[in-house]
Amino acid sequence: MDATRRGFLQGLALGGSAVAGGRLLRAQEPIHLGSKVVEAPNVYRSGAAIIENGKVIRPRHEISVISDTGVLVVGGGCAGVIAALAAARAGHKVTLVERYGCFGGLWTAGLVLIVLATHVKTAQGLNKCVRGIGDELLERLLKVRNGIVNQEPGKRNPTSDPEATKYVMAEMLREAGVEILLHSWVTNAIMDGKTVRGVVFESKSGCLAITAKVVVDATGDGDVYGAAGAEHVRHLHRIGLVHRLGNVDRVNAAAPAGAKERRLGSITPLPSVAWVNMQGPQGDCLDVRTLTQTELDGRRAVWERVKAVQQRPGHDQVFLLDTASQLGIRASRTLKGVVEPTYNEAMAGKRYRDVIGVGGADFMGERACQIPYGALVPVRIENLLAAGRCVAADNLMMNYTRLIGPCLLTGQAAGAAAALAIRNKCRPRDVDVRQLQALLKKQGAYLG
Ligand SMILES: Cc1cc2nc3c(=O)[nH]c(=O)nc-3n(C[C@H](O)[C@H](O)[C@H](O)COP(=O)(O)OP(=O)(O)OC[C@H]3O[C@@H](n4cnc5c(N)ncnc54)[C@H](O)[C@@H]3O)c2cc1C
Repeated sequence: MDATRRGFLQGLALGGSAVAGGRLLRAQEPIHLGSKVVEAPNVYRSGAAIIENGKVIRPRHEISVISDTGVLVVGGGCAGVIAALAAARAGHKVTLVERYGCFGGLWTAGLVLIVLATHVKTAQGLNKCVRGIGDELLERLLKVRNGIVNQEPGKRNPTSDPEATKYVMAEMLREAGVEILLHSWVTNAIMDGKTVRGVVFESKSGCLAITAKVVVDATGDGDVYGAAGAEHVRHLHRIGLVHRLGNVDRVNAAAPAGAKERRLGSITPLPSVAWVNMQGPQGDCLDVRTLTQTELDGRRAVWERVKAVQQRPGHDQVFLLDTASQLGIRASRTLKGVVEPTYNEAMAGKRYRDVIGVGGADFMGERACQIPYGALVPVRIENLLAAGRCVAADNLMMNYTRLIGPCLLTGQAAGAAAALAIRNKCRPRDVDVRQLQALLKKQGAYLG
């Protein structure tokens, strides 16, 4: 049997479909490659809760430490991935813990596909401000088939494909030697007074711990600094459920005038697919009942919207391709940082001694503003940095810092700063900002 035929049959045996002579064959779920029975401990038993005097109590029990690392990054969204890469490339052992099975967070699982705030206005015209590792990621996406589409000149604000982004991120992390733990939901911080020593997480292997020299909270929601007792601000924001439509290129050209002009969504790298952003209701993104109700209502609203689209003349071929597997959480916690950048200061062109990135958004007229390192550093808690949408910023400025462009910048800065703190045996708040800026520049970052 030749290798092609053998591979084809193995594909079928593993339960996949295969194309033979142009025909798509449907494979059966294999029954003969079944399971193997093994002896294994019940990982949940030791941590089981009990009822005592009518109250549910979690008894004291020892938690196994699965890893002792240099930089521990919690959350594998755009900020966390870049933080892990920056720290690993600076030569440290890095562990990245992510609750889901893929990287990218809102950018991929949340189907938020447009990378905003990549450029700012300067006297010379539009200038790329997302450089360094974030830009390297965008450039790698360009090399992947249907990885990214640039609609605007100078590769400004591109739209990426979520699957390509997940793939490229995982490849970059593996190349950098980052220790990766997926399907691991961090539930608490390990504290030694006001110093974070690691985290505790839940997984199918039970409750486990990781100890670390420095922890980067890139959970988007500030879960680690919340657990560590760092001061922060709670937000109620709009929660959206993003979705994509397929066959948007099959809207019947003979449809009555006006029907075709109605936008179905924004373009994506896939020619027949559009993505649709949803505002959604305002709610507490840290309240499980709110999240549940919003998810249920959001799915119904998307389904009804798509049905309405299909009923438009010439639109019967359009279908709901997918909904985001993660709700669109815009803001929940922002850190009380040693510096809190404000919108008014940004618009007044405030310059920070500890600048770690420069950016600007549409709603700011793309005016260049600086992001200070102090926005990543908690007021009180040690060995902890924030990255991404949960860094310190006032209510208006947060509309900039939570965009993907700046999340890539604060991610890189947090990873680089964590690495320097370890190298210089100092607290993250005591990192020499000139050394940090030099390392960021070495890693390609733009500081103005
Ligand atoms: C509906 C919507 C539309 C938007 N539109 C745009 C847009 O067009 N352009 C743009 O640039 N930005 C947009 N944004 C903002 C932007 O997408 C996000 O703010 C940005 O992607 C946040 O990145 P992050 O890495 O900080 O956080 P996240 O993407 O939230 O990543 C956090 C990661 O941490 C993981 N995590 C969370 N908690 C835990 C835990 N306890 N343990 C382990 N892992 C954990 C999550 O699974 C996730 O992977 C939009 C946001 C929303 C909600």
